[in-house]
Amino acid sequence: MIRPLVAGNWKMNGLAAGIAEIDRVREAHRRVPDPGCDILICPPFTLIHEAAKRCADSTVGIGAQDCHPQRAGAHTGDISAEMLVDAGATHVIVGHSERRADHSESDDVVREKAEAAIAAGLSPIICVGESAEQRQAGQAQAVVDAQLLGSMPRTNTDAIVVAYEPVWAIGTGLTASAADIAQMHRHIRGHVSRTTRILYGGSVKPANAAEILAIEDVNGALVGGASLKADNFLGIINAA
Ligand code: PEP
Repeated sequence: MIRPLVAGNWKMNGLAAGIAEIDRVREAHRRVPDPGCDILICPPFTLIHEAAKRCADSTVGIGAQDCHPQRAGAHTGDISAEMLVDAGATHVIVGHSERRADHSESDDVVREKAEAAIAAGLSPIICVGESAEQRQAGQAQAVVDAQLLGSMPRTNTDAIVVAYEPVWAIGTGLTASAADIAQMHRHIRGHVSRTTRILYGGSVKPANAAEILAIEDVNGALVGGASLKADNFLGIINAA
C-alpha cells in the first residue's frame, strides 16, 4: 500500500496574505497526528521560506514549482534545488506542462532538474501528460512513454514522484474518465517501481477526489486551482 500524497500547486498565485490559507490547512491538521496521506503545498518561491517556517513540526510539507538544473552560478533570476532546501522545501515540481510550454523545457532539461533535485535532497514531482490533439490522435500513451523515458532520472529512487496530468484537463474543469486514468496509471506503473507514487492531476476538486483517488495505481493528486482555498484543499485531503 503506497501512502497517498496530496500536493497543491499554487502556480503564480499568492501574496504574503495568502499564507493564511496554508495556516488554515495546518491548523485543521494540528490535532490529527496521522492524516492518512502526505500533504504538500507548493506556493510561489516568495512564500516558501515563511510557509515552511510556519509548517515546521506539522503534517503539512512545503514544496516548490521549479528549480534550475545547476547548483549555483550565473543564471540570473533562477533558483537552485539547494536554495529550495535551504528555504525549507522538501519537494519540487519539475516539467509541469505550463513550464514545458511557456519555457520550452525539453525532456532532457526536466531530467536534469529532477536529478539536481535528488542530489540536493528534494523529491522531484515529474509531470507528464498528453495534449487533447495527441489523445484524439491515439498517441496519449506514446507521448507519455517518450516523456517518461526522457524526463526520468537515470537512478531510480523512491524520492521520485510521477504526476500524470493530461494537459487538456489542467485548469479546464475537465477530468479524464476513470477508465482513462486507470489505463494510463497502469501503463505508467510499467515504467516505474512498485513503490513509486503516481499522482493524477487535472481539475481535481472535492467533488471528484474520492472517485479519482480510489482508482488503482493512483497514489495521490496534484491539485492546482482547488488548492488555493483551504476549504477545497481540505476536502480533497479528506477524500484521500
Ligand atoms: C496543475 O496545475 O497541476 C493542475 C492540475 O491544475 P488544476 O487542478 O487547476 O487543473
